[in-house]
Formats: sequence, C-alpha cells, structure tokens
Amino acid sequence: MNETIKRETPNHFSLPRRINRLGQLAYNLWWVWNPEGQQLFRQIRPRLWDELEHNPVAFLKKVERSYLNAAANDTYYLDMYDRVMKKFDDYLNGEDTWFKQQYPHLLNQQIAYFSFEFGLHESLPVYAGGLGILAGDHLKEASDLGLPLVGVGFIYNQGYFTQVITEDGWQETHTKHLVLEDAPIALLKDDEGNPITISVELPGRNVFARIWEVRVGRVSLFLLDSNLPVNSDADRQLTARLYSNDLEVRISQEILLGMGGVRALRRLGYQPQVWHMNEGHSAFLAVERALELVRKGKTFAEAAAEVRKTNVFTTHTPVPAGNDQFPLWLVDKYFSQIWPELGLTRDQFVDLGRQATPWGESFCMPVLALKLSEHANAVSELHGQVSRRMWHFLWPERAVEDVPIRHITNGVHTGTWLARRLRLLFDRYLGADWMKRIDDPQLWSQVENIPDGELWAVRQHLKRKLILYINDRARQRWQSGQYHPAQALASGVFLEPYSLTIGFARRFATYKRGGLILRDYDRLMRLVTNPDMPVQIIFAGKAHPADEPGKLLIQQVYRAVKDSRMGGRLVFLEDYDMNMARYLVQGVDVWLNNPRRPNEASGTSGMKAALNGVLNLSVMDGWWREGFNGLNGWAIGEDADPVDPNQQDEMDARSLYEQLEKDIIPLYYTNRSVDNIPTAWIARIKEAIRTLAPQFSTRRMVKEYLSEMYLACMEETEQETA
Ligand SMILES: *Cc1c(COP(=O)(O)O)cnc(C)c1O
Repeated sequence: MNETIKRETPNHFSLPRRINRLGQLAYNLWWVWNPEGQQLFRQIRPRLWDELEHNPVAFLKKVERSYLNAAANDTYYLDMYDRVMKKFDDYLNGEDTWFKQQYPHLLNQQIAYFSFEFGLHESLPVYAGGLGILAGDHLKEASDLGLPLVGVGFIYNQGYFTQVITEDGWQETHTKHLVLEDAPIALLKDDEGNPITISVELPGRNVFARIWEVRVGRVSLFLLDSNLPVNSDADRQLTARLYSNDLEVRISQEILLGMGGVRALRRLGYQPQVWHMNEGHSAFLAVERALELVRKGKTFAEAAAEVRKTNVFTTHTPVPAGNDQFPLWLVDKYFSQIWPELGLTRDQFVDLGRQATPWGESFCMPVLALKLSEHANAVSELHGQVSRRMWHFLWPERAVEDVPIRHITNGVHTGTWLARRLRLLFDRYLGADWMKRIDDPQLWSQVENIPDGELWAVRQHLKRKLILYINDRARQRWQSGQYHPAQALASGVFLEPYSLTIGFARRFATYKRGGLILRDYDRLMRLVTNPDMPVQIIFAGKAHPADEPGKLLIQQVYRAVKDSRMGGRLVFLEDYDMNMARYLVQGVDVWLNNPRRPNEASGTSGMKAALNGVLNLSVMDGWWREGFNGLNGWAIGEDADPVDPNQQDEMDARSLYEQLEKDIIPLYYTNRSVDNIPTAWIARIKEAIRTLAPQFSTRRMVKEYLSEMYLACMEETEQETA
C-alpha cells in the first residue's frame, strides 16, 4: 500500500495493560477461524459475547471493567492470552507461507478480488447468502496460503434484514442498521488525517466514496461507502443495501463497485496483475481498466485485448435473476459520456454486453465479463456444462464443449466451519499439523483411526448444543411477550437430542424447493411421528423481501410446522445467518438439499455439513454430483437432466421418502453396538469426512484458482515487463 496512507487500528477501548492487545485482535478477523482467539473474548463474559453477536469491537467497548480486570488477573486466562497472541503474531509475520515457498519470485504480484458481498462473520453483515460466504472463505484461504490478494466490495449499513415470521407464517423483514463504530473496520485516511475518497461520474454529478479496511488475517478487504455529506441523499444510500430491485440504483452501484473499485486500488497504490470478478456485478472494472489504457494513448481494441489477458470471471448461477441485465436506455443514460472517450460508437459499446431476450435486447453483465476475461469458470462440473450451453451464443462458431468456460468447484474454509470439538479430535488423530495439509486426501485416510465412541460423543455433543441454542432462542422470544404460544412451539421447544435430526437451511427461492418434503403430507407425518424411530426436521432460511413465491413457500412450511399432528417435530427457525448456519451444519445428523436440478450451481452448506460428520441427502446437482460416491451420504433422484418440472418434483419426492424410510432412518436407529453406538452410521460419517473434507475445501479451490488462472495472468504481465 502507498506510503502516504494511514492505517491506524482504531482504539476505542481502555483495557488493562496486561491484555491490551485484545484491541488489536478485535480488528483482525483472524480470530474467526481460530477457536482459541474466540475464547479470549468469550471467556471474559460469555453471555455478553453472545448478546453482541460475537462482535469483539462492540464487546470490548461494552464489557465492564471488573470483568476485564478479573481476566487480567487470571493465570489460566493469561496463559491462553500469551499463547494466542504469539500464534497471531507468527501468523501475521508469515515467514513460511505456502505461497512464499512455492512462488518466491511472485511475492511482489497482486491479485484483486471483487465481489458485491463478503460473508466473513455474523458481526459484519455485508452478505446475503452463498455468494458472499464463498467470497469470505476465499479471502480467509488466500490469507492462510499467503496469497498476495486484496478484496474490494461495499460496506452496507442497512445490508441485512432481520426475518420475523408472523403467527400465520408470513415473512416480515426489519432493516438492521450496522453501527460502523462498532464494526471491525478502519477508515482509511491520508497524511492530513482526512478520509481518502474516490469518485465516479454518474449522470449530472460525481459520486464520492470513502474506503474502509477490514483485516482478514494477512489479507485486506476494502469496502466502499458512499454515505458522505458531499453526496446527495439518494447517492448516500447507494451503498446502503444489497441487491436493490431498482435498476437505476443497481447500475449506479455496479459502476461504483467496478470503476470506483479500480480507482480505490490505484489510489491506495495497488497495481494488481490479476483482476478477479466474483459474479458479473463488478464487470465494469474491465471498462475502467480499458479506459485507463485508452487515456494513455491505446486504441480500444488494444486496450481491451490487454486487460482481457489478466481478467478472471467466475459465473455463479444459471438462474436468470442472478445474471444482471440492464435495459439499453439505462446504458445510454449512464455510459454515453464514456463510449466516445473509449473511441467506440454506441453500438460497439452495447455489443460488449448485448444479449437478446424475449422482450428485446439488454446489456448483460456476465456477457461483458465473459467478453473481457481470458479466464472464466463455473463453480461445479455440471454447472460448467450448463454454463457452456447457456453462453454458447457468444461463441456461435464453436462447439458447445469448446466454449471457453471451465469449472472450479467451490469449497469451504475448514477453520471457519469445523466445530471446535472436532478440530481437537482431528488434532489428536490426524497429526498436529493437519491444517497445513487440508487438501491432501492421504491425510484424511487417518479418520479411520478415530475411535467410534469418541466420534459419536462429539456428534452427540454438537446436537445437544444445537438444541440448547434453539431452546434458548425460543425462550427469549417467548419472554419478549410478542409471541403466540404456537410460534414458540414452531421455533423448536419440543426438540430433543436423541432423534434423527434433519436440517434444511437455505434461501427460500422456489428452485430450492423448500416444500418438497411436504408433497405427500400424510407420509411425512407418519415418518416424523413414528414412535419407534422418530425424525425431527429443522427448517431455516430467508426469502428475498420482493420474492412473493419464496414467501409463500415459507408460509407453506410454517403451516406444517404448526400442525399439532406433526408433534412439534418440524421446526422453523427465524433469521438464518452465519451463526445459526454454524450450529446447524455442525449439529444435525442429515443435511437435506433438494433443488430443481440443474439450478444449484454448486451449493456450499452441504460441504460444511460433511466436514462436521453430517451426512448429505441431496439431489445430484452442483457439488454433490462430484462428491457422492455411493457410501458417503445419499442421492435423491438420478444423475440425469429433468423431464418436466412437475414430473421431476414427483419423482424426487418419491425418491426422498424412500431413502428415508428404507435406508436412512433404519441405519440410524439399528446396528447399535452394546454401548448404543450406531456403528454403520459412523462408518458412513467417516467415509464422508475422509472423501469430502479435502476435495471440497477452499484449500483445494484457491490453489486451483491460482494454478489454472491467476498464474497465467501473472506470467502475462511478467512477459510484458521483461
Ligand atoms: C453456507 C451458507 C449459505 C450457502 O449455502 P447453500 O448451500 O449455497 O444454500 C447461505 N447462507 C449462509 C448463512 C451460509 O452459511
């Protein structure tokens, strides 16, 4: 970073001197994936830590001095403190990172990673779902590997909405305001102490943004924020929320992210060799980069050819709503100043993103990204096939298989998603340095050595923890006096830790078919209330506030949940977020995923579950088509393309019930050893961890991004400067 940029860690705290570095730790999300780091905060005052959503900045500001003093005088605490701080320092100094060992000559290179959302932790709610969590996991892994990477995105001060379900099952949403002073972010300032700003030209005005920095281990994430007095009220709101339905807001946001993001990096002194667009939202970065070169005297054709070589684009969904398109009148309004400067006619500019649709032509962001990126990928093997078909029209002269979109299957960040108790078990049975070899399949064969009893004890512990968490939430809601008794029951007071427990937590978008398991209602009822082998199902997930069919699905599920004949064995948890996701993917027995194939490009929650010894029961879509081996979980339906949707729903529902009745439920309840351990079930758990943990880790994924795409970009610029 540029010498003249000030990066001071804010210090709002007055801490006892002996533990005063907690303030520094609070401003680096490293602790998120280091359980001892979490313990350092939590142990001071556990209830407050939970109340404040595990936000260390808010926590250190609020916790009473007496608790801090007690910690500072507790030898056990201080031991842990010293150990954690040493580990933190060693990590940050990073003398022996994987990247440094493998590519010492590339240490001066820089990768820029742009994303509309980043899901790093529940205390920094600037994400909506899977796309953001993937971006967050990508940064954490880049940090662990020592990749020279920086992220660019937005801080959303009203990014998140809280979900409340009415007694009748209708989703209501409340905006949650992010208090910037309490977030683990630091405002970047110049020499004179003024906030550093960048600007972009929107019709009739400039819009300014300041820049916040989030430290993610060794990696920096820069978040743009237009909430500045120099901007009009409307422009101040530009970075307030994710995914506005107002296309004019949306195009303005995307100009700010793409073009403004490049300007921010330049202003901070970065000259990246690799530009990675996570989805099409940031694709205007390619226009900005071309503009930079045209201003230096190149023609547009030369400029485009040059920036293309070092752009990387990842497409994330075949669902149309996930692929941004703008009507051409908006492109006219926002870019008519820019195409002459690029030396292009209107038509030539529009060509960069042109897509024919049934209702006319539009300007499509993934098209722009594909045209201006040498490297493009989908996020699973099947999604690769689907994407090549979907974007074939851009390469009509090629065969579908030769459309230049490869695939790199998603992964999850092991340290973030693995339960602490399991980590301790792995420390013991996989070897102390197992986290250095996460993507090594050999390492994981040692899972066989974990005694069944120990593994089962941890699994049971995690289920109890989940149920306590759910009960506690239900109690708090009940105590608030705002709840009807039926709502308290629906939120899980009848759950118990001995029944087979299934989790279904994801966005309530129709293609994910949240109601599939309700299709044969009586059959489901018999299944969950069977007194010999009962089953519990926990649902959670939000619908986009504007998605009426999604909200109707929630209502359908909620009505089943409230049906007394279901015996309180169906549950709906309000307000799904990363914290709840951790409890669920660690605590249930079976993770259910039943999208309408092939719409789930990858999915990642099932990977988190598998890592924790939770067995997947999933449609052969996205990652599961690659992960399933016949022994490490269960498949719903065939590995085949759907007939008509209704028929597919019927077939998949039937397959789902049959697997549960014939295979899954008996396997869980029978084959018990003398100490009541389900040995055949545990064999499956071990098979799942052994085969899925290495393959579906971000360790494997980020290394693939590096070897398949980033390195080629870096070599490109090396040749140029040579
Ligand atoms: C992992 C995760 C997701 C993504 O899960 P999918 O399997 O893609 O649905 C969404 N939201 C949260 C909170 C998550 O933790």
